[in-house]
Amino acid sequence: MKKDCIFIYSDDFQKYKFHDHHPFNQLRVKLTYDLLRTMNALDDSQIISPRIATDDELFLVHDRAYIEAVKTAGEGRLPEEIALNYGLGTEDTPIFPNMHEASALLVGSTLTAVDYVLSGKAKHALSLGGGLHHGFRGKASGFCIYNDSAVAIKYIQEKYNLRVLYVDTDAHHGDGVQWMFYDDPNVCTFSIHETGRYLFPGTGNVNERGQGKGYGFSFNIPVDAFTEDESWLDAYTQAFREIADFFRPDIILTQNGADSHYYDPLTHLSATMKIYREIPKLAHEMAHQYCEGRWIAVGGGGYDIWRVVPRAWALIWLEMTEQSNISGNIPQEWIDKWQKHSPVPLPTEWDDPEDLYPPIPRKAEITEKNAQTVMKALYPIRSNRQKMNL
Ligand SMILES: [Zn+2]
Ligand SMILES: [Zn+2]
Repeated sequence: MKKDCIFIYSDDFQKYKFHDHHPFNQLRVKLTYDLLRTMNALDDSQIISPRIATDDELFLVHDRAYIEAVKTAGEGRLPEEIALNYGLGTEDTPIFPNMHEASALLVGSTLTAVDYVLSGKAKHALSLGGGLHHGFRGKASGFCIYNDSAVAIKYIQEKYNLRVLYVDTDAHHGDGVQWMFYDDPNVCTFSIHETGRYLFPGTGNVNERGQGKGYGFSFNIPVDAFTEDESWLDAYTQAFREIADFFRPDIILTQNGADSHYYDPLTHLSATMKIYREIPKLAHEMAHQYCEGRWIAVGGGGYDIWRVVPRAWALIWLEMTEQSNISGNIPQEWIDKWQKHSPVPLPTEWDDPEDLYPPIPRKAEITEKNAQTVMKALYPIRSNRQKMNL
C-alpha cells in the first residue's frame, strides 16, 4: 500500500447539494470512494478528513461582500435581487441551506491536499470534492460557489512561494481559475475543453493567452463538438508535455472534470474511458519529471454519475498509487450495492466497448480542426524554442 498518497474524504461532501434534480451531484464522490474500498485499493491509512477553509483563506481570492452574501443566503436571509447580483439563486446555482459551510468544506479539502503535499507528508493527493473551476472573485457561476483550486493556488503562492501549473481537463473551460491568475506569470493555466461556441461558459478561446506580465502563461485548447479519444488525447499529450517543459512548474494541480465522455448529458464530446486512463497517467509522469512528484488532483464536472464518474475518478487514484494496470470487470459487489439506486445499468467493465456509439461522420474534419487549434495554442512556445535552437 503506497504511503505517500492521500485521499481526502468526508461524507459531509454530500452537503454541497442544490436540490434533488440538480445535475451536480456529490454522490459521485461517494460512489468512487466505495468502488475503491470494495476493491481494497484504498487503505484506512490513506484516507484523510478535510478541514473547513477559514474566512481568511477564502479572502485570498474571494471578495468579503460575496462571502457574506453566501453566508446570509445559506441562512435564508438574502433578498432575491441582492442574491442575483452575486450569481446566487439562479437556475444553475440555487441557494441551499448552509451553503457557505458546505462550500468552504470543499475548499478546505483541497487545502488539506496542499498541506500534505507541501509539508512532504505525501507526494500525491486527491481531493475529489474540489474542482469548482467556475467560481469567480465575487460571483457564483456554473454550479460553483467558492473556487477551491484558485484558493489553493493562491495559498501555495503565499505560504510556499511556488510556481503552479494548473491543468484543467473538464469539458467546460476553466474560466474562474484562468481569470484569477490571468496577469500572473507564476501561475500557468492550461484548459482543454469543448469549444465555447455552443457550451457554457463560452470562453476558452485559443487567443486568451494572459495579460500584462502574465501574457503567455494561459493556454487554451477548445476542441470541436464530437471530438473522439484519439484527437483529444493527441491535443492533451502534446500540449501538457510542451507546456510543462516551457513553464517548469514546482507543483502541478489537475482539475479532473469527467464530463467529456460520450455519455455526459451536458456536453457534446465523444470521449470514452480511454482518455480517463491517460489523463492521470501523463499528469503523474509530468509531476515526477518536473516537480519531484508534487501533484494534487481535484474533481470537477461529471454528470453521468453512475456510468462514467466513478470509473474515471477511481482511475486517478489507481494511477497515483500505481495500481492502474487494472482491466476487466468492475467488482460485482459494488454493482449489486448500487444498481438499485441507478436509473441506468451500471457498467460491468473498466473499459467501454469499442462500439459505444455510432461512427461520427465528420471525424476527419474534426481531427484536422483540432490539430490546427493545437498548433495555434502552442505556437508561441514552439516558435520561441526554434529561435533558441538557431
Ligand atoms: Zn464541466
Ligand atoms: Zn508517483
